[in-house]
Amino acid sequence: MDRIVKIAEIGTLKKTRNPVIIYSLTEESEAIANSCRDHGVNVVAFCDNEIRKSKNLYAGLEVIHTPELPKRFPEADFLIAHHALDDCGEQLIDMGYKNIYSPINILKEYNVNNHTHRTTQSYMKAKVDHSIKLHELYFDETKTYLRSIDIQITEKCSMNCESCCNLMQYYERAKNTDEEILRATEILSNNVDYIAEYRIIGGEPLMNKQWAQITNGLAERYPGSIIYIYTNGTICPKDEVLETLKGKNIHFYITDYDELSRNIEKLVQSLKKHKLAFYRKSAGNWVDCSQVKKQNRSVARLKQVFKECCAKRLYSLLNGKLYTCPFLANAANLKSIPDNKADYVDLFSDDKNLKNKIKRLVKMENFFPGCDFCSGRPHDPSAALEYSGKGLIKAGKQMPSMSSRIPFKSYN
Ligand code: SF4
Ligand code: SF4
Repeated sequence: MDRIVKIAEIGTLKKTRNPVIIYSLTEESEAIANSCRDHGVNVVAFCDNEIRKSKNLYAGLEVIHTPELPKRFPEADFLIAHHALDDCGEQLIDMGYKNIYSPINILKEYNVNNHTHRTTQSYMKAKVDHSIKLHELYFDETKTYLRSIDIQITEKCSMNCESCCNLMQYYERAKNTDEEILRATEILSNNVDYIAEYRIIGGEPLMNKQWAQITNGLAERYPGSIIYIYTNGTICPKDEVLETLKGKNIHFYITDYDELSRNIEKLVQSLKKHKLAFYRKSAGNWVDCSQVKKQNRSVARLKQVFKECCAKRLYSLLNGKLYTCPFLANAANLKSIPDNKADYVDLFSDDKNLKNKIKRLVKMENFFPGCDFCSGRPHDPSAALEYSGKGLIKAGKQMPSMSSRIPFKSYN
């Protein structure tokens, strides 16, 4: 099968008469821009589907809101910095562009140590290596790979965000998830070719007292993958616990909710003290996708909501089941949507066809039944055709109290 996205040769890009644009402001897009500069490729801009990202320069270059591209650049060559290469390529083809490239060779030629970055050096090195691996797998059709798997180790959170897209605000009796997390990851990893990132999430994962044990268990089993701990900066683990993570491919990803992240400075100092890699990111704004409500969309509208969804490859593991996004994982776990086996793969089933079922779920190009209960999660709600949420909202608005919960219809 012909790929939409081709591999960019540095020599070809140096000679092109078209402007070169980097698609999507991922963390590694900074490395792609630097490497292009190092090799004499003239990048003129970035583009991104989120309009809010187009307000400021990025790595010294303008950021264009992607739907505005044809007005500004009727012809252009694109380097895709996003992991969903086909989805990005399709959008650009729909806009009339032809030259759409993977930057794999540009990343292979990049020396992280010759530059400083918005992230720590070790974090950027991991991101670049990870991107190279994912792009290699993209060009190998025989492989089933997951860019990342969110391993939800708890339903508890130290905050209570009104619009949590992982649906924590619905859990009446939040608990840590099952004891068999590592067994579930073993079954999953034995049935796919590659998982690049294991992401420990919650709620707030540090509320599960077993978090370090689980993290170290993953690091021992999957030394070739990167492990991220997603935290909201409210909890600073003890020195002796952090010490156990040292020397492994473990990174903290801290979302900064300003004053709500009450222990963030302490956490950052502790991570620096223990030389643990981290990335700190302001929570900023979210696209609201926190409502669970039957929408009764037609098949055509469901296809559209899925096409526009930016979360449909946020593979999630919850209580032994594999889902393609955190909404489906938590909506099903809460029983706030009807149980439908088409929405997930049960890793603990004795199904002899497990490998194929996982492959089908991972490569799904169509919608899931549970998508009809979701508002949709587009990159840019203002440009989406099929979205029924509140739009772009300030991240982290809290419920009236820590015990407040949103009621929902239960499908027991
Ligand atoms: S901090 Fe907020 S958004 Fe993050 S998991 Fe907790 S409740 Fe959800
Ligand atoms: S549209 Fe479907 S895949 Fe996307 S977040 Fe909603 S439920 Fe998940």
